[in-house]
Amino acid sequence: MSDLDAGEDEPLLAVRDLRTVFHTDRETVRAVDGISFDIERGETVGLVGESGSGKSVTARSILGLVDSPGVIEGGEIRFRGEDLTDDNWDEHRGDIAIVFQDPSSLNPVYTVGNQIREALEIHQGLRGDEAAERAVELLETVGIPDAKRRADEYPHQLSGGMQQRAVIAVALACDPDLLVCDEPTTALDVTIQAQILDLLDELRREKGLAILLITHDMGVIEDATSRVNVMYAGEIVERAPTAALFERPEHPYTRALLRSIPGSAAVDERLPTIEGEVPTPTEPAESCRFAPRCPEAFEDCSAVHPEATGVGREGTDHVAACLLHESGFETEDDR
Ligand code: ADP
Ligand code: MG
Repeated sequence: MSDLDAGEDEPLLAVRDLRTVFHTDRETVRAVDGISFDIERGETVGLVGESGSGKSVTARSILGLVDSPGVIEGGEIRFRGEDLTDDNWDEHRGDIAIVFQDPSSLNPVYTVGNQIREALEIHQGLRGDEAAERAVELLETVGIPDAKRRADEYPHQLSGGMQQRAVIAVALACDPDLLVCDEPTTALDVTIQAQILDLLDELRREKGLAILLITHDMGVIEDATSRVNVMYAGEIVERAPTAALFERPEHPYTRALLRSIPGSAAVDERLPTIEGEVPTPTEPAESCRFAPRCPEAFEDCSAVHPEATGVGREGTDHVAACLLHESGFETEDDR
């Protein structure tokens, strides 16, 4: 294998033992505490967990957008084989784009077309008529009808769903390989949500985009991802192909999330089925952070930090970090 091929066998994105912390006056918040996951070209990978579990900090870490007092303190974020944490973000600026939950990431004082043209100029060096035509094309790509006219409108003239399409058009103007979508549909009603998820899947299929889809909603995960990582208090507690996760969830936290799939609109991100909230991780993990809320916890859970263990059928990448699955721990089922 020549050097040029190096990275071809690697996933597009490989996150390894990533640790992002916030040093505040009072404490150290270990928002992302040693997570690892991969994203292959052209696939949609989910990152799911309740509010406060560290999903957005993960997203910002990948983009190199962690603000002080936050700092990436350890691990690697390899993009096409190159570790971005070695200050390589500028080199890959535009290869990775982010879509936030809130369409207010559009600037209210510029027209939609203007904002896309600006991104086209910065990332692709397009100007004038060429940029204007490409901007309209991008609005068409994201399914905005009457794109030529819409390009001259201001964000507030668009509906919430159309605004989020415009945000995606701005992201596409960088011609990215990886799109990080942080709760891209949370602010939208269910019908519009489904349309945006369809759009993302179309972009994946047609442009070979890789997508990291971040959500607190297991329903979105089921509809839109092929693999999924379940995050709790800074850690990934279960990872599996999406179908396997829904068929056989192995971590009690995942089971709780699955029970919480709302029949109603879940504006409230807390789980109806588990009391309490995600703890803010400030100390190194020396036990299971979910144990205090876990219906299946036993004594060792508050004394031992569980390691990720293979739990799936042979050949499936299905792991869970739970003592119920670590050999050497006897559970009620075994007795
Ligand atoms: P999620 O996106 O899963 O809801 P976040 O990634 O936003 O969660 O937050 C993870 C943890 O990091 C939370 O405990 C949050 O309070 C903490 N955190 C995020 N940003 C900051 C900050 N600027 N300063 C201190 N703590 C922060
Ligand atoms: Mg978030």
